[in-house]
Formats: sequence, C-alpha cells, structure tokens
Amino acid sequence: MTTIKTSGFNDPFDNLLPSPDTAIQRKRVNSRPGKITKITNLTHDTIEVTVTCDKNTPPFNAKAGQYGTLKVDGIDRPRAYSFAKAPVLEKKNQVTFFIRLIEGGELSDWFKQKKRTREKVIVSGPMGKFGLDKSNDTIVCIAGGSGMSAIKALVEQASHQSLARDCLFFYGARTQADLYCLEEMEAIKQQWHPDHSFTFIPVLSEESHDCDWQGPRGFVTEYLKSHYIDTRQLDINHIKAFFCGPPAMIDHGVTVLQDAGLPSEAIRYDKFEDIRSPAPVIDNRKCTLCDECLLVKPIDNCIVETSAFSHSRQTGITDIETVRPGRTSGLYYSTLLINNDQCIRCYACVDACPHNAISPANLAIPQVLKLIQL
Ligand SMILES: Cc1cc2nc3c(=O)[nH]c(=O)nc-3n(C[C@H](O)[C@H](O)[C@H](O)COP(=O)(O)OP(=O)(O)OC[C@H]3O[C@@H](n4cnc5c(N)ncnc54)[C@H](O)[C@@H]3O)c2cc1C
Ligand code: SF4
Ligand code: SF4
Repeated sequence: MTTIKTSGFNDPFDNLLPSPDTAIQRKRVNSRPGKITKITNLTHDTIEVTVTCDKNTPPFNAKAGQYGTLKVDGIDRPRAYSFAKAPVLEKKNQVTFFIRLIEGGELSDWFKQKKRTREKVIVSGPMGKFGLDKSNDTIVCIAGGSGMSAIKALVEQASHQSLARDCLFFYGARTQADLYCLEEMEAIKQQWHPDHSFTFIPVLSEESHDCDWQGPRGFVTEYLKSHYIDTRQLDINHIKAFFCGPPAMIDHGVTVLQDAGLPSEAIRYDKFEDIRSPAPVIDNRKCTLCDECLLVKPIDNCIVETSAFSHSRQTGITDIETVRPGRTSGLYYSTLLINNDQCIRCYACVDACPHNAISPANLAIPQVLKLIQL
C-alpha cells in the first residue's frame, strides 16, 4: 500500500507575490465567456446547444472536426465537446454542440435540472487534430450517437468547399427514435459536388422487426464490414476513414479496416472518451520538459508540476513537492504527473506532446511513478 503526500513548496515570499495568472499555461487554447442562447431537443436524449460569446471576442478559428470544452457554473471541471457545425457556417462568435445526456452524468444532470438558456458558460478551444485530409480518396465516415457532431462538421465543410470526392457516411444508432440531422444530411447530398456522390447510411442496432424500418440493421461497423468490405464494394486502396463517437465502436471499426488492409495513416478518429476511460500517463524518461502539454491542458491542475518527489520503500510514502505556476517563485518543475481525479480524458496533452511521451497505454514508465495514484 502506497501513501501519497503532496506538499506545496513553502515559499517565504508567497504572500508578497501577485495573484498567479494560470491562463499563461493555456495560451494555445483560448477561453471565452459566453451564454447559452439556444437549446434544441434533437432526440429523446440528445440536445443541440448554441453558445454565443461576446461580439468583441476574437473568432475561434477552429477547423471542422476540432472540439472545445464547456465549463458551467457549479461544476468544477469542464467537459469536452466536438464542434457540431463547420466553422465556415457558424457565426463568428457562436459555437454549436450536440450533447448526449447520460444517466447520472454531472453535466448531463445540469442540463436536465432546468432550462439552461441564458446561463453563463466558458468555452475553451479549439483543440484536437481530427479533420479531413487533402487527398482525393473516397471519404468514409463512421459515427455513433453524438459522434454525429464532428462528422457533420466535416461533411458540411467538404460540401461547402465542393470537394471532388465521393463520401459514404455510416451512422450507427439504436432505433429510429435515435436518428437526427436527417434533413441536414439530405441538404448536404443535394449540395455535394455534381460529379461525386454523398451517401448517408443510418444503421439501426435495436429497432424492432415489426416496424416500418426498411434500412440496414445491426452494428454499424459490422454492417460496414459485411456489406462494403467483404463484398469489395469499397476499394480499400482508395479510401480515407474518419470515425467519431464511442471508443468501443471506433476500436472495432479500426480493426475491421486494418484487417482489410487499410494502413493506419488512412484512418483518423475522434474518440469520445469519458471519465471511465484511462487517464493518460507521462513517461518521464521521454519527457523533455518542453511545456507543450501545459499549453493545451483545459484545466489548471490536470497535469501536476513537481519540483521533487521521493519514495521510501520502508514507509511506503511517496512525497511529491508541487510547484504552483506563477506562485512558487524561482522554482521550476522537474517531473510532470497526471492527476487522475482532475483529468477529463480530453487527450489534448497526448496530441500536443512532440516527443510521444504521453500515452493512455504507456506501460513503460519508471517503477516509482507506477506507484503514484494522485
Ligand atoms: C474529444 C472529446 C469530444 C467529445 N465530444 C462529445 C460530443 O460532441 N458530444 C457528447 O455528447 N459527448 C462528447 N464527449 C464526451 C463528453 O466530454 C462527456 O464525457 C460526456 O458528455 C459525459 O459528461 P457528464 O458530465 O454528463 O458525465 P460525467 O459526470 O463525466 O460521468 C458520470 C458517470 O457517467 C458514466 N458515463 C460517462 N459517460 C458515459 C457514456 N457516454 N455512456 C454511459 N455512461 C457514461 C461514467 O461511468 C461516470 O461514472 C467528448 C469527449 C471527448 C474526450
Ligand atoms: S487528457 Fe491531458 S490535457 Fe486532457 S485533462 Fe487529462 S491530463 Fe489534462
Ligand atoms: S509535451 Fe511531452 S515532452 Fe513536453 S513537457 Fe509535456 S510530456 Fe514532457
């Protein structure tokens, strides 16, 4: 059993120092105050939320496929949500999210408690590297649930730019009651490049057999495999795949495509990780203390900077001396640790690290760090 003791460095000048400017550490991610100006029910459990920021705030400059975080009063930590509209179609000071309200979720409950239009919020972003590539290959999109958001933004962007590419969009939902954005998909089809096609294929996994549904059934990734990969309807040599939604769906879909011979460079995804997913781990042997992860982290204390730590085998106590950014004068960090309890699993730090030192599956970490459960 390991005991963790976290002690801030005792700085004798603490009281004399000005208030810390913690935003300095997040300078690649802009935070903008705004208000929820519209909430629309998309299905029985999914809402569309529009946030309008002050007219004078600088534009988000997001790319289709990126995400931001939403922080509301009364809930400590923000949550990550994909931008659900192509930025070219969004008003400069607005962002739109599709949010699935889950049972027992903190932010989900916040939305369920009362009408939240006019509530003040903070939106931070843009984050993430998900987005269209520049090839002419067929675009194959696979989304599930609220994963519609980022894929909708991608195909809106492609349609707006009149990209000369075919596109198949496989969308997995449980029943017809879980389908939404059908009119938007039809509008994209009508506006698609005239020499190419856009096909939206909703696949239902739980629709009852005695109803009027004539469309595809089963799990979306299974359907893709049996009807398009195994039958060679899709030429695997000329596609690029874009996944968005639940991690399990994406993991299965990626396996299907890789088994069929699609190289991993041709597959991009945006996984909606949540608090059940593992927090990433920093391999301190690879870390060069370059600060990049600190510049994108969405909250102040998800990545803890420490100036020293020691572990005693006799007592089992690991003592971590933390550095408080902008507060602990003249002291710099020597080791970074991810705080499991604060991390919102946005994986922005994983994307940002130029040295591949942060990974959700990083097993090669020094033994003493394995002991640490902050
Ligand atoms: C990059 C990124 C983009 C995302 N984009 C979107 C998006 O566009 N739309 C969207 O709806 N979500 C998106 N998410 C997920 C989102 O960030 C939240 O995790 C989700 O909305 C749950 O928040 P909550 O506060 O309601 O639940 P939490 O309070 O965080 O979770 C509470 C409990 O609910 C359980 N739980 C959490 N998530 C789920 C789930 N999905 N199904 C079942 N049980 C769950 C957990 O076990 C936990 O104990 C994204 C996540 C990431 C990392
Ligand atoms: S994934 Fe990384 S950046 Fe995101 S909250 Fe966790 S530690 Fe912070
Ligand atoms: S981005 Fe990577 S290398 Fe740079 S400080 Fe963070 S973990 Fe270390």
